[in-house]
Amino acid sequence: MNLFSRICPCCNTKEIHIHTHYKTQAHGPRTIYHCANCGIYFSETVETPLAGLKTPVSRIITILKARTDGMGLNATARTFSVSKKSVIDWEKRLGELKPTLMLYTMLHEFIHQDIEGDELYTKVAKNVAPSVSEGWTIVLMEQASGFLWELHCGRRNQQLFEKALTCLAQVIEKTGSLNLLTDGERRYSNLLFEICHDLILSGRPGRPKRRLRKGVRVRLKNKGSQKRPGRKRQKYQAPIPEHPETQHDVTEQTIHANHVEAFNASIRRRNAAFRRKTNTYAKSRKDLQRTLDVYWLVHNFVRVHFTTKMVPAVHLGILSVGISWPQLLTIRYAV
Ligand SMILES: [Zn+2]
Repeated sequence: MNLFSRICPCCNTKEIHIHTHYKTQAHGPRTIYHCANCGIYFSETVETPLAGLKTPVSRIITILKARTDGMGLNATARTFSVSKKSVIDWEKRLGELKPTLMLYTMLHEFIHQDIEGDELYTKVAKNVAPSVSEGWTIVLMEQASGFLWELHCGRRNQQLFEKALTCLAQVIEKTGSLNLLTDGERRYSNLLFEICHDLILSGRPGRPKRRLRKGVRVRLKNKGSQKRPGRKRQKYQAPIPEHPETQHDVTEQTIHANHVEAFNASIRRRNAAFRRKTNTYAKSRKDLQRTLDVYWLVHNFVRVHFTTKMVPAVHLGILSVGISWPQLLTIRYAV
């Protein structure tokens, strides 16, 4: 899968050739291709976020950059004299690339990953109790690269955790060995165990034992309540039974590293809906998810990470260089 190759949108063949160039009012020259196989003619922007847009690309990029650097929707509309509707439309178009880039990422294999799980909270629509708020966001972040596997918001319920761990199960399929490090929330480990376990056949009668998939370990950071007299308090726990043939260990350093914390600070700076004590929060769960999808793309594939000084997707080994903003807008939807 090549993110930037041009193929025929009708029959997917690579045997296309340039038919003509034409000049657009705002975008400069554009190319029309012809497919020798099925005979259709198509523009280079077909099925990309830019399809049918008349606004100059440079303006769209400037505005989307401001948004992903923390400018609220209203402020963006005022500053750039652009309608909120246009900004929302561009963000939707960009966010729709997420499945394509996820598919691309999942085509790779990984040797080892340490993944931190955490939940972030912000207000949605109006101020309600956290238990009924739709502003919970599950973050699954790979420690070394800062790559975000999961960034989904909703009510803090079973469904939200299930979604995240289904994604994690797919990552596990592609990874040799993996550690999941979470806070005290036990739903991560319990659900992961449900989705992703092996049966150990011992040859003895009775039901085979269930163990977490080979190569996977889960650690919980305990917060108190483990004190028993005479026993040293454990700092972390392995909450679910692990496979006897899992070889790697979880180092103290891995457990204590807290990369999501730094990420939380960054998202509060860069996504207006996560800013504390303001009224710039999202109007609905869907609106919040739209901004999170854009954040996911830009964080993983475009922006240089503040600690590693590399684009997370490059650090993860799935790209040789980061994707530029103009390139991002010309990726064709594959899903
Ligand atoms: Zn064709």
